[in-house]
Amino acid sequence: MPKRADQPLKGLGTKYGATVRKRYSRVFRELKAKRVCQQCGSSSFTRIAIGVWRCNKCGHTAAGGAYTF
Ligand SMILES: [Zn+2]
Repeated sequence: MPKRADQPLKGLGTKYGATVRKRYSRVFRELKAKRVCQQCGSSSFTRIAIGVWRCNKCGHTAAGGAYTF
């Protein structure tokens, strides 16, 4: 069975309530989604702090959104 995109993440169990878990799952997936570096085209462009995104390959740093670039 294919994994649905809106399926809640494992790890939180029954804690915090269904709505918060769903919202957290969505934001977390968006945060961990693969991003392409605008400088070198590498997909190792990740968030290092809230609003700060950096490429692990070329070191290109850019300001972006808190949870999505
Ligand atoms: Zn890069």
